[in-house]
Amino acid sequence: MATMESLIGLVNRIQRACTVLGDHGGEGMSLWEALPSVAVVGGQSSGKSSVLESVVGRDFLPRGSGIVTRRPLVLQLHKTEAGQAEYGEFLHAPGKKFSDFADVRREISEETDRLTGKSKHISNKPIHLSIYSPNVVNLTLIDLPGMTKVATEGQPDSIVEDIDNMVRSYVEKPNCIILAISPANQDIATSDAIRLAKEVDPSGERTFGVLTKLDLMDKGTNAVDKFALAWITYVTNVFKVLEGRSYRLQHPWVGIVNRSQADINKNVDMIAARRREREYFQSSPEYGHVANKMGSEYLAKLLSKHLEAVIRQRIPSIIALINKTIDELEAELDRLGRPIGVDAGAQLYTILEMCRAFDRVFKEHLDGGRPGGDRIYLVFDNQLPAALKKLPFDRHLSLSNVRKVVSEADGYQPHLIAPEQGYRRLIDSSLSFFKGPAEASVDAVHFVLKELVRKSIAETQELKRFPSLQADIAAAAGESLEKFREDSRKTVLRLVEMESSYLTVEFFRKLPLDPEKGSNPSAPNMDRYADSHYRRIGSNVSAYVGMICDTLRNTIPKAVVYCQVREAKRALLNYFYSQVGRREKKQLSTMLDEDPALMEKRETIANRLALYKSARDEIDSVAWK
Ligand code: GDP
Ligand code: MG
Repeated sequence: MATMESLIGLVNRIQRACTVLGDHGGEGMSLWEALPSVAVVGGQSSGKSSVLESVVGRDFLPRGSGIVTRRPLVLQLHKTEAGQAEYGEFLHAPGKKFSDFADVRREISEETDRLTGKSKHISNKPIHLSIYSPNVVNLTLIDLPGMTKVATEGQPDSIVEDIDNMVRSYVEKPNCIILAISPANQDIATSDAIRLAKEVDPSGERTFGVLTKLDLMDKGTNAVDKFALAWITYVTNVFKVLEGRSYRLQHPWVGIVNRSQADINKNVDMIAARRREREYFQSSPEYGHVANKMGSEYLAKLLSKHLEAVIRQRIPSIIALINKTIDELEAELDRLGRPIGVDAGAQLYTILEMCRAFDRVFKEHLDGGRPGGDRIYLVFDNQLPAALKKLPFDRHLSLSNVRKVVSEADGYQPHLIAPEQGYRRLIDSSLSFFKGPAEASVDAVHFVLKELVRKSIAETQELKRFPSLQADIAAAAGESLEKFREDSRKTVLRLVEMESSYLTVEFFRKLPLDPEKGSNPSAPNMDRYADSHYRRIGSNVSAYVGMICDTLRNTIPKAVVYCQVREAKRALLNYFYSQVGRREKKQLSTMLDEDPALMEKRETIANRLALYKSARDEIDSVAWK
């Protein structure tokens, strides 16, 4: 089974990693919150920083009047081999070893100001300090700003509440062990620490009561007896008060004697202060039997042991949380898309994969399954026939125009039997009207296809993260469609031109002879220029044009589908593929540029995932040895 050192060391490492990732107990259940820690709470000047320093055995916390601690200080103590040099290291300045603890103190002040400015305001982003020393036990302690009842030094009025909220945010976590500091020279009934602990830990199972300034309690009394009496009375009162409020701690109270202000001014060193504290308890007969259960050294051991027990107990739930979070993060990464390989081959593969995905969606639009393909049929079934119907043949084949065209074709010598030239001109000019609707069909289908490309790009899940590639595919598909349109346009115009280049003679052979004239060939010349003659010519041409119209109504869609729709399905990105294949790695990476916000999000998640995975590995390697 894991040793105490390794367990607490494990928690320390995970805590540090959490802070690097900005995961120090924000929204939701975080790993940080699942980890046990010890928070030091109490009113201003109750001796919090002194207790911390005693536990560490070194002077290193900034001091001064008012609210000195304005950011949480996460203090991780790492026990090193005897004889090793002591040093501190901040998470915000990795690798920089502070062996002079006066420098540590300065750095804490400066780092506090760096975030809060000189405003004397508070911030809940913690400062992380690790202390490596043979004289400490493995322990994580959090020093919090002292609770206060009034704002001072031009601090905003909200500071009282802000501090209260911040302290509360740490101690209300069920995994937080509360070190509730109350000065013995004040009425315990008014202790901020106890008030808060009672609120957030009503059963008192995770609160350690610490009484500081025991030495100040008997100020002015020299007799040990008197002091002992005072102490016993005091403690009895404390419990009366506590019981009266039906609040009882599960752990024994620990009394502490820290250095007084005078000691600090005289630079009494911590090791000496500890020795003095030990002597203080041992030399007092009243403490005799409990002397080894008093003092900061004992407190440190007590905490460390308790922390170990808590960690042991929490490990299964921490592992469960880690596994659950890993699953969630993996799912989130899948949703965002995994990072892409950096080599050209992997990138090319990714690009082609995504093009294929796009192609699939596009084909579904055309072939059915997704909407849009039906709009092409609408062009043929609706738009084209309507446009054909609207062609101005009535006007073009009106009596006056037929006469005009035929006469012009005849020239100075009017036709003798049938106006061959006139017919041809009338038919030719009529057929050219078909070019308009033919081209319009090509364009209409082109726009449908273009719209389907746009839609398909938007609907291709895999492409969502790559705006550059989306633009590239849109451009390539657009170019291809343009090419298909041109081809289609030429083809439909050719269909129309083919109709005028060779007329269906059969049609005219089958035309019935002029009913009136047929029976009276004796006077043909008289009727040659009569209205009825031209009307007949007009109606013959109209019938012929009607026949061609029926043909084109059928052949234009075939041409359009052949040239545009079929090609779009078959070869929309062919040119693009051949180009991409020749691209250099740099160009490929540019195509795979992602939305920076998305990349950042993925990176954050990937980092968290790495943290949780390494935490799992660490626990695996430590906990079940
Ligand atoms: P904090 O504001 O809660 O962090 O309190 P500090 O640790 O800064 O202590 C406030 C003042 O009380 C300092 O001048 C300390 O020297 C003094 N002090 C703290 N604990 C004791 C103690 O046990 N005995 C005596 N005599 N003075 C103490
Ligand atoms: Mg302090």
